[in-house]
Amino acid sequence: MKQFSFCVDGEHTLQSCMEQFQKSCPEEYSAILIFVFTSRRKASEIWEMTETLQKAYPKAVIAGSTTSGEILDGTLRLHSTILDFLVFERTKVMLQSYDLKKLQADEAGSVLLGRCQRMRGLKAVGLLGTMKVCNVKPFLAMLSKLPEDVEVFGGGSDTYDEEELGCVFTTATILKKGMLAICFTGDLHVRLTAHSGWKPLGLPMEITGMYGDNIVTELDHQPALAAYEKYLDISRNEEFVHDTIEFPLMLERNGHMLARSPGACTPDGALIFSADLQVGERVWLGYGDPNEIERQSAESQRQIAAFAPEAIAFFCCISRRIFFQNEVQSDLSFYHRVGLPNAGFYTYGEVMRTNRQVELMNITMLAVGFREGEAQENRISLDVQAREHGKKTERSLIQRLAHFVSVTTKELEEANEKLARMATQDRLTELNNRGEVEALLKSELDSPVSRMRPVSVIMLDLDKFKCINDTYGHGVGDDVLKFTADALRKNIRNGDAAGRWGGEEFLLLLPGTALEQAVSVAERIRQMLESSSVLPDGKGVTASFGVAQYQPGEEYGAFYRRLDALLYQAKHGGRNRVEWELE
Ligand code: GH3
Ligand code: MG
Ligand code: MG
Repeated sequence: MKQFSFCVDGEHTLQSCMEQFQKSCPEEYSAILIFVFTSRRKASEIWEMTETLQKAYPKAVIAGSTTSGEILDGTLRLHSTILDFLVFERTKVMLQSYDLKKLQADEAGSVLLGRCQRMRGLKAVGLLGTMKVCNVKPFLAMLSKLPEDVEVFGGGSDTYDEEELGCVFTTATILKKGMLAICFTGDLHVRLTAHSGWKPLGLPMEITGMYGDNIVTELDHQPALAAYEKYLDISRNEEFVHDTIEFPLMLERNGHMLARSPGACTPDGALIFSADLQVGERVWLGYGDPNEIERQSAESQRQIAAFAPEAIAFFCCISRRIFFQNEVQSDLSFYHRVGLPNAGFYTYGEVMRTNRQVELMNITMLAVGFREGEAQENRISLDVQAREHGKKTERSLIQRLAHFVSVTTKELEEANEKLARMATQDRLTELNNRGEVEALLKSELDSPVSRMRPVSVIMLDLDKFKCINDTYGHGVGDDVLKFTADALRKNIRNGDAAGRWGGEEFLLLLPGTALEQAVSVAERIRQMLESSSVLPDGKGVTASFGVAQYQPGEEYGAFYRRLDALLYQAKHGGRNRVEWELE
């Protein structure tokens, strides 16, 4: 296959680009796909362009999108139109369009899925869509059902003017709310690589309120805007989108970090995102880390080079253009030097399939390599050194500040964890402390579930422990307490709880366990302690046990007294024994 890309602007007319293509276009081909990425938004201009192209190449498939920046051979072109001709020898290309004003996104996705499933040798699906105005999640979810080896990629239309909405188009239709799907079948290999370089910053927040799939009303029970106001000093004004686009929310899904850029803010502080989120998801404010961007970008380049593509198309998030500003060329420089014609555009949302799931992403640079047949000699030179480093001082300032924030956040998190542990854990045995185990016990007895299933409790006290301290020393006494704690941990299940009730007294809470099983747990522990050789002279220790099953409706105090009395009974009955009673 071959790729020919042109930029229609002042110097070149549509006509002269077509003439140039005509000169180099192979005579034999199985399909021609023409991507049109354009800054033009007027329907009449779009119609004229697609009609002219279709007339010249009646068999070509034409798919286009409005953009907020066109990219030709790794160079940003502004206010222009890119024509990207992909000429295939052994691949068929089919175009479908879905008007999402008429069809629900999931219906459209399901129709496309059905069509794809009937195609033989489907290798990839390319999407161009108006992501800004439709919730494409249900559409993409359908495509996640495609066989694992089918790649899905694409980008969302955008415009230079934030107030204006974009469109996607073919020769037959212009869609203000819709999706184009280009299905590739045949001897085609497609390789996707995406990189972002944005990292989460500070502590996570929980999404506690949403409206629909992409409007976040609350983060940590505060209006969503408050997070941007508090941490970034960004308020709701005309600059809001511009200010926040570099600081998307980050979240983890399928083991990958994804970004979500706020596209607008409502008067009551809700944020409208360009892609879906969910209540309960943990999110961070994210920032572009210059080092990470460079590292990930180099990795992407290696992957693309290793694939040895014959053609490259890419979809680059508009947030990157805003983030890089004057340095935007440094983000694209690889494609400038790559030695293959290539084309792409600045998108509002990038689509990529990873781990079977088709996800809508933000802030990514998605490169799509195409190749027919096996890899031939690699035409890409990997001259990573040649990357332009841009304004070094400014970057290293961001980097050092971000590093500072990450390290202090980590220290804070560790300190918080330690505090939380100290508040609930017994230092010596690392079991729950008295306060914690008592709280667990009370909440279990109070919970409606405990009326539907049995709950049993074991209370135990080491026998003649004072004597152990006196004979072997306090250090050995401590070791015995730790050994006992281990024995308790080993004998309980997930969902049970063990705690240190007092000096050498312990409590086990066993939800979902009836008295009989609890007694056998106690008996097992008793034997384990007795037969151990925890003491310096190789002897074991003994303990006395009281075991009771909670009676629904029983007062906490009454239950505790019952348990204590059973333990007392065990002590007075000769120690090293388990006592129980049902009521
Ligand atoms: P009984 O069989 O009747 O339970 O006799 P006992 O000696 O075990 O009971 P008593 O309540 O008289 O003594 C408990 C001892 O446990 C007294 C106290 O010094 C010791 N103790 C309490 N906490 C710790 C601790 O953290 N480490 C050590 N080594 N000893 C402790
Ligand atoms: Mg004791
Ligand atoms: Mg005691």
